[in-house]
Amino acid sequence: MRFTVTSRGDDVSNTLQQKIKRYLLDFGLKLDEQEPDIVITVGGDGTLLHAFHRYTSRLEDTAFVGIHTGHLGFYADWVPDEVEKLVIHVAKTPYQIVEYPLLEVVVRHTDESESKRLLALNECTVKSQEGSLVSNVEIKGDVFEVFRGDGLCISTPSGSTAYNKALGGAILHPSLASIQISEMASINNRVYRTIGSPLVLPQHHTCLIKPLNQVELQVTIDHFTLAYKRVKSIQCRVAEEKIRFARFRPFPFWKRVKESFIGDS
Ligand code: NAP
Ligand code: MN
Repeated sequence: MRFTVTSRGDDVSNTLQQKIKRYLLDFGLKLDEQEPDIVITVGGDGTLLHAFHRYTSRLEDTAFVGIHTGHLGFYADWVPDEVEKLVIHVAKTPYQIVEYPLLEVVVRHTDESESKRLLALNECTVKSQEGSLVSNVEIKGDVFEVFRGDGLCISTPSGSTAYNKALGGAILHPSLASIQISEMASINNRVYRTIGSPLVLPQHHTCLIKPLNQVELQVTIDHFTLAYKRVKSIQCRVAEEKIRFARFRPFPFWKRVKESFIGDS
């Protein structure tokens, strides 16, 4: 089996990264940064997001595992103390795979026939670089509303605990193949009207964001931001691809939600 270990880059994570590499090499596994079967990330959820984007071209053949060296993460849910156990699991036992849905984003330009297809593990956000975002929101081919406000956030179920949660979105279990649209400070008065509630769309229901003013858009996919002039539409739906996590012990989603946001009491 081929593996790689990535790190957030701080001293604690780097040290642990080297330790895991040594352990796995001693067990006879092959270090392969190009085509790993398993990617172990050391740091936080952000570290796993980075690793995901590095290996999006081989999602079918790669499983991810996250270790957190800071606070408990949603993707990074192993503690450094468990590393020995984890390493033995990786090397010696076949592991279970848990799949989580992803978001597919297609950005189309007004003056080009070209389009850009991206995958997000957490979310895509659309904002205007100057002033409000003014855009049609189409759902399944019909105009649903005209949105005016700071922006829109379209998240995956596993991303629902991130930016989406800060926007008042619901937390969705990652077994629900769906996407959630939440608003950022929509303008609502007699003239402008938006639904105001987060919407959850099932698989195959496409959401199309069509800007009505020619402003430069800021499109964020997880941790990276792209700036676009002349956007015709941004299409969002549940992706065909999924991310695969290697599971060595149960740590149910709702338990992670509780431990992250409620605590022990
Ligand atoms: P960051 O600024 O370090 O991330 C912000 C926080 O979100 C970090 O504490 C991060 O955890 C956490 N996080 C990431 N994915 C999560 C998830 N699925 N569930 C719960 N928490 C999660 O930047 P980053 O680490 O590169 O992460 C990018 C993400 O930040 C974006 O995808 C977006 O969801 C989030 N974000 C949130 C807000 C907001 O809440 N107002 C604003 C902008 C961006 P770690 O510390 O473990 O990395
Ligand atoms: Mn982070």
